[in-house]
Amino acid sequence: MMISSAFRKEMSQTEIGKTINYCYQCGTCAGICPAFRVNSNYNPRRLVEDILLGFKDKLLNDKNIWLCTTCHLCLEVCPQGVLVSEMLFDLRHMAVAIGNIPENIREEGVRVFNTGLNLPNNPAIARRRTKMGLKENLMTPNVEVIQTILKEVGFPKLIEKLPEEGGNE
Ligand code: SF4
Ligand code: SF4
Repeated sequence: MMISSAFRKEMSQTEIGKTINYCYQCGTCAGICPAFRVNSNYNPRRLVEDILLGFKDKLLNDKNIWLCTTCHLCLEVCPQGVLVSEMLFDLRHMAVAIGNIPENIREEGVRVFNTGLNLPNNPAIARRRTKMGLKENLMTPNVEVIQTILKEVGFPKLIEKLPEEGGNE
């Protein structure tokens, strides 16, 4: 892989992305990251480093960019104000634009489009909810409204396998 400043410059076009230029690779983000704690293959400091080195293709094909829980703890602790998790959203958007979506994420997207929920109501979840003193089932969202919004932003085309027009599959 060739080191290049091109991707760093591309990322720096936005208010979020330009914060990357202040990263000095201290690793504080990795130290607090819950995703790193359970999976050492996932390391936000290393993802930022890959942007700095210009490894765009590697990043847009890296399943790790989908492992961030978006807890935003890294934003809270970064001494340099680098918007790490926000930048990961940008990377995901770029990956989706070229059709790089992990199958489980694609399936989740299809589920949200069809039901308005990213987790289906099922007996296992109902049991856990009851145990926690919650109503057995999640409320039923207004799928029609959700689909209207998702179609407006071009979601079916991005996620593929979904109809451009019409209701549930
Ligand atoms: S905490 Fe901030 S400065 Fe330190 S490695 Fe992470 S992004 Fe870079
Ligand atoms: S937002 Fe993502 S990268 Fe940041 S600490 Fe949470 S899981 Fe880790």
